[in-house]
Amino acid sequence: MKIPDQHMHTSYSFDAHETATFSAYIKKAEARGVSQLTFTDHVDLDTPPGVTECLPDYPRYVKALKTLQKKTNVSLNLGIELGYQAHLKDRHDGLLDAYPFDFVILSVHVADGLDLYNGDFFKGKTQIEAYQRYFEIVKTMVETTDNYDVIGHLDYIIRYGDFDVKDYDFDRFKPVIDAILKTIIRKNKGIELNTSGLRYGLGHTHPKKALLKRYRELGGTIITLGSDAHDPKDYQADFDQAVTLLKACGFREISLFKARKHTPFAL
Ligand SMILES: [Zn+2]
Ligand SMILES: [Zn+2]
Repeated sequence: MKIPDQHMHTSYSFDAHETATFSAYIKKAEARGVSQLTFTDHVDLDTPPGVTECLPDYPRYVKALKTLQKKTNVSLNLGIELGYQAHLKDRHDGLLDAYPFDFVILSVHVADGLDLYNGDFFKGKTQIEAYQRYFEIVKTMVETTDNYDVIGHLDYIIRYGDFDVKDYDFDRFKPVIDAILKTIIRKNKGIELNTSGLRYGLGHTHPKKALLKRYRELGGTIITLGSDAHDPKDYQADFDQAVTLLKACGFREISLFKARKHTPFAL
């Protein structure tokens, strides 16, 4: 499998495995003949109380990548997974200006100041209310933010919350999802296909097939593929399945980002 993985975390992310070093991923990419690696560690600022803030030491990070680049033919890219919150816009813009980022994933991990992962966001909401509110926040995000390349794990909300069925009826949320996708397409931005849902037992990727298909139908073409590995063992996880899914939805290529510009990579 030679398709570059464009979503992975190293031990610079608070939640990654200690073995998730740059070198461990480089070894994997070299062994599989992959041309580039894009590290997308977390930047989650101003997190709710009790939730870890994450900001890698970028001077050290950039230096480490430069040093390693001299020893490998795999092109090492500086990516980032930015945790969106409306009030962080200026801090995010400043950070993205300060370092030579190749690729920016924008993700919602905290919504209305509440954490999705620890379940606080779901308190006092029905499943439908929680999902609707989440998608509305994503809609506001894409309407008001332009300094990013792809939206991370677009239907990530379904991973969390104490519900029996961790899924959603696409048609029920179609109006808000259509509005999100149309805005992304109009602004020449993209989405990612994130395979982590398959490892977390959800039975599908983020986003799931119905949303992916709709993105294509509406004219969406910019798409990246990412495992969201927090451990090198998950590098390119389930990419065979993902490629089959992408083709079934009408995609013939994915987008490879370098210096915030994308080029096609045939599937
Ligand atoms: Zn994420
Ligand atoms: Zn991630």
